[in-house]
Amino acid sequence: MSRSWILSAVTSLSLVGSVNAAPIECSRCEAWNKEQVPFQIYGNTYYVGPHGLSSVLITSPQGHVLIDGALPQSAPLIAKHVEQLGFKLTDVKVIVNSHTHYDHAGGIAELQKLTGAKVIASDKAAPVLRSGRVESDDPQVEHLLPFPAVSNVEALGQRPSLQVGTLKLSVIHTPGHAPGGTSWRWQSCEAERCLNLVYSDSLNAVSDKSFKYGGDPRWPTAAKELSTSMAAISAAPCDILITAHPELSGLSAAIDERGHGDRAKLIDSAACKRYVATTRQLLDKRLASEKSAQH
Ligand SMILES: [Zn+2]
Repeated sequence: MSRSWILSAVTSLSLVGSVNAAPIECSRCEAWNKEQVPFQIYGNTYYVGPHGLSSVLITSPQGHVLIDGALPQSAPLIAKHVEQLGFKLTDVKVIVNSHTHYDHAGGIAELQKLTGAKVIASDKAAPVLRSGRVESDDPQVEHLLPFPAVSNVEALGQRPSLQVGTLKLSVIHTPGHAPGGTSWRWQSCEAERCLNLVYSDSLNAVSDKSFKYGGDPRWPTAAKELSTSMAAISAAPCDILITAHPELSGLSAAIDERGHGDRAKLIDSAACKRYVATTRQLLDKRLASEKSAQH
């Protein structure tokens, strides 16, 4: 019996009984949740998500951080990927989130159970994670699906960064796509070369038909806050951009299903600025069409 067979048998056994969250069904869920071979992005940073929804593991000898849990049905995939890379689930000490929609937060409850990690979220995002339901100020409140509630969430408060062992994650508050949106920045090194990595939340102004980005009573400052968030991502030291949806940055083009990350495409110090330029155009267009609809 080969060692790898034993390893994979142990891996699948360890996940039996843990898959208790009902899968969310949506038009894009199946494509988003397609299998993706996990791969090293740079240094101690690894892509562990399914093909169409990002989830990133940042490792250290004193414990790891996981960003985003994708869909409820992604949790066993993400857990399997962490183990495939040779890391222990119980070494994941902290889980953070980009924004509290079912396609990025849906797997967090299950991943918390599997890892025993602490879940830390912005003050605005924490109650949403605890309930599994977005609040009335979310621009997409009318059609967003509920997701498994996370039982134990710590609010981030005013902390500018999170420290896990030697890892330091800087917090970039990026409300706009969702009220509690958060982006994360850290450094990963290979030999002498350290790069700045940014996990950017979605910055696209999408909403229900009834929501107005240019002044809605449910969230009057949505456009202004989104614009400030864009400026923060644009100004961040950024050599590698990872977006919550890989297709929104160069990430999709840089990965393939066999897990071969193309470094030439991944390392791109213009990626954050380009991402912001694209999403800013969307916001401008959106505000212009809201204005013209008023006349
Ligand atoms: Zn999303």
